[in-house]
Amino acid sequence: MLIVMKPSATAPEIDHVVKVVETLGFRAHSMPGATRTAIGITGNDGTIDGRRFENLAGVAEVIRVTKPYKLITLDLQPDRTGVRVGDATIGGNELAIIAGPCAIENRDQALAVAKAVKESGARFFRGGVYKPRSSPYSFQGLGDKGWEIMAEIRDTFGLKIVTEALDDASVELVERHADVIQIGARNMQNSSLLKRVGKSKLPVLLKRGMAATLEEWLLAAEYIMAEGNYNVILCERGVRTFAQHTRNTLDLAAVPAVRRISHLPIIVDPSHGSGNTYMVTPLARAGVAVGADGLMVEVHNEPDVALSDGVQALTPEQYHELVEQVRAIREITESN
Ligand code: PEP
Ligand code: MN
Repeated sequence: MLIVMKPSATAPEIDHVVKVVETLGFRAHSMPGATRTAIGITGNDGTIDGRRFENLAGVAEVIRVTKPYKLITLDLQPDRTGVRVGDATIGGNELAIIAGPCAIENRDQALAVAKAVKESGARFFRGGVYKPRSSPYSFQGLGDKGWEIMAEIRDTFGLKIVTEALDDASVELVERHADVIQIGARNMQNSSLLKRVGKSKLPVLLKRGMAATLEEWLLAAEYIMAEGNYNVILCERGVRTFAQHTRNTLDLAAVPAVRRISHLPIIVDPSHGSGNTYMVTPLARAGVAVGADGLMVEVHNEPDVALSDGVQALTPEQYHELVEQVRAIREITESN
């Protein structure tokens, strides 16, 4: 159920509607927009009789939601969400670039990459402290030793830190040391983790599961929002197909598909989406051309000796070229 308030509705009228919803035992999600406020109702297993809200002061209309998701939709919020991360935004006018190594390996590596990221004008540094590897014998990330390096990067370069949380315990540490919590493809349907980050004050970057349909992915975002955290960024990172020429098949059609349904920002990860360095820049260009709000790319100062995902990492030089090209494309798409 979705309650749309009149453009003239006053704050006390909105508060009253919220109170009525809560008194009935449901959760009210008030979404102020440019022209009107809408209130999404969750916590109901069955249908609610919407007529009880229709006569409340300030209510324009009550809409029964027939789709499985409610809070992620443009019906609830027709204005696009810009997720604020301090003084930076993902989903605003500026193309958001999130770049860094797959994993933080050591201080010299991380700082060398962070310097390149800073020089490109990007605002976000990504790097895994905890890595969800397919093999238990592969490098699992520096773990807690990585936080000191992250703190130095944040202080030295003023970059916002994006890093993955694997479980409840690591969410707490990510909350303490980072600016955006990444939920990886392998955890996209970990409902208890989604609920946990839904209670966080930090924005959540939600990667698409490697076999997730669009609906499953959007419902994962809905899990986070239903807990009250509305700062969710979707990240298309490719899905499993029969293709053998790539690590994953980057589903660029997901970008316009998501934008048709949801107000949430969507970014593209051409690194995991292809698994090959030579494909990353062309796919990044394509991602921006189809309307992505940003990109997440892996960069390494020495890809040949990287402890993880070296075969898809860009060198700093290749990365600078990518940034230049995608910014030019963004200018063209914005002016159209
Ligand atoms: C990553 O971003 O380093 C990562 C592990 O990606 P994904 O969860 O998409 O596999
Ligand atoms: Mn990686």
